[in-house]
Amino acid sequence: MYNENIWVKSDQTKEIFAFGEDYKEFISNCKTERLCTKEAVKELEAKGFKEISSVKTLKAGDKVYKVNKGKNVCAFIVGKKDVREGLRILGAHIDSPRMDLKQHPLYEKKGFALLDTHYYGGIKKYQWVTIPLALYGVVVKKDGSVVDINIGDGKDDPVLGVTDLLIHLAADQMTKKANVVIEGEDLDLTAGSIPCDDKKDAVKKNILKLIKDKYNIEEEDFLSAEIEVVPAGPARDYGLDRSMIAGYGHDDRSCAYTSLRAILDIKNPEYTSCTILVDKEEIGSVGATGAQSYFFENAILELLDKTGDASLLALRKTLENSKMLSSDVSAGVDPLYTSAYDENNACFLGKGIVFNKYTGARGKSGSNDAMPEYFAWVRNIMDNDGIFFQTAELGKVDQGGGGTIAYILGNTNMNVVDAGIAVLNMHAPMEIVSKADVYEAYKAYKTFLTK
Ligand code: MN
Ligand code: MN
Repeated sequence: MYNENIWVKSDQTKEIFAFGEDYKEFISNCKTERLCTKEAVKELEAKGFKEISSVKTLKAGDKVYKVNKGKNVCAFIVGKKDVREGLRILGAHIDSPRMDLKQHPLYEKKGFALLDTHYYGGIKKYQWVTIPLALYGVVVKKDGSVVDINIGDGKDDPVLGVTDLLIHLAADQMTKKANVVIEGEDLDLTAGSIPCDDKKDAVKKNILKLIKDKYNIEEEDFLSAEIEVVPAGPARDYGLDRSMIAGYGHDDRSCAYTSLRAILDIKNPEYTSCTILVDKEEIGSVGATGAQSYFFENAILELLDKTGDASLLALRKTLENSKMLSSDVSAGVDPLYTSAYDENNACFLGKGIVFNKYTGARGKSGSNDAMPEYFAWVRNIMDNDGIFFQTAELGKVDQGGGGTIAYILGNTNMNVVDAGIAVLNMHAPMEIVSKADVYEAYKAYKTFLTK
């Protein structure tokens, strides 16, 4: 159903609100890639998915998953047709814009201990000051032991934050351009103010002592840590009618959660179903856990190996015969900033899953421009199942742009189109989605996996 308002035309209001509750819980509890991966594995195992290396052979209906370094995961249901006839793939990313602690983060200045950060992904830096922030991640010690860090979301936890200059003294600051009004090197967290004695760096020393007592880690252990700074607090209903959800990380956990739920909730598909959740999309899909990694091809090779033929030709044919939805969010029209969009080619909250034939910037550069033959097939299956959908570009021509993982899988010669949820405030600490769109994306993904 193209370009209709779900709230007006759908009779599933109850299901929409119920699904919204599940989703709020997921993004409130899973604010890092590692936590998303852990939760995905938990839910997959509860539905009978097995770790792929624990299985010798695979047949139709079998369910397996594979985890990559604790930060990215893919799940498969073997189809009735031969795997080599191609997969139906949903791919979403589970990393979101944030700040990361530097390797040498802790320092003292003017009676405060501070934690130095380097931001991750594209952010408007001024949005990340004077809000409560939480720390999540791991510190890995030289002996290989892993200490989990989780501060700021517990009921009695303290929060951290980045200070900003009071308005009374901000005459110089207020004349600066938005891109430099808060500088990257000024995104440092206030971590404490109690000195342990009257000597130099006594506040820093006191913080180190606290960390040592609680976690048994030394300052040098930050060298091998991965600590992410994210907004504190749970996702909340947004709007007087509760139609929307305000939360951190809708990009792209709204699509990750719905893609995961889709594979959890289907049975015995014709073609082999796959949901892959990747890391590092916000910094170019690079590295071992990003979409450009060989991890996914290796996982498919294992699948082929356990279903008969894992030759290079079988792998290439499998990929070439596959169809994919690159599950990533889209830029919903913001009523306060309509001039940034071409409204005939833009998406709106409440009108269902958004297909972006292409993304990119400056003349579609860097985009996967989907084949019209493929998108005709997608439209048809959506319409046949009564799925609410819309199409969009990422804003006005030459206004900006962005990318997704679509082109990376496209490189293997499979058909890919971007398909996701409209978001307001994208990349801000508090992003907004419509509950109706989250539910519709889930339904659309299920339709796709079973066709
Ligand atoms: Mn995204
Ligand atoms: Mn993004």
